[in-house]
Amino acid sequence: MPLHLSTLHFVAAPVTLQEGIKILERDDYKCRYCGLDGRASFENALVMSVDFVVPRARKGKKDVNNLVACCRPCNMIKGTDVYKSFEDAKAYVLKQREELRKNWQEKTAATRAKSATG
Ligand SMILES: [Zn+2]
Repeated sequence: MPLHLSTLHFVAAPVTLQEGIKILERDDYKCRYCGLDGRASFENALVMSVDFVVPRARKGKKDVNNLVACCRPCNMIKGTDVYKSFEDAKAYVLKQREELRKNWQEKTAATRAKSATG
């Protein structure tokens, strides 16, 4: 499968290519946080990664139960905090994404209004 090359190239270093494939296949190449489909386009494939639900920085284990398919933006938003459960982490990530979206929409609306009048 051609997507493997691009996807695996970006799998986080502590996870081997084989381990990465297993997680991505299990999760159907979809980000477990936002649902981004890593198979939908090349751009999506490029941002797919594997996330440690409990981060390695917090002694999270490299265990299939602690690994999920994740897009890089969600991975970045989630950061190295520890959550009570995966559901909690997901709720946090989705909330943050919504805030970012609002800010982005406000900014792009302001830019559009400027260029329309200017
Ligand atoms: Zn995502």
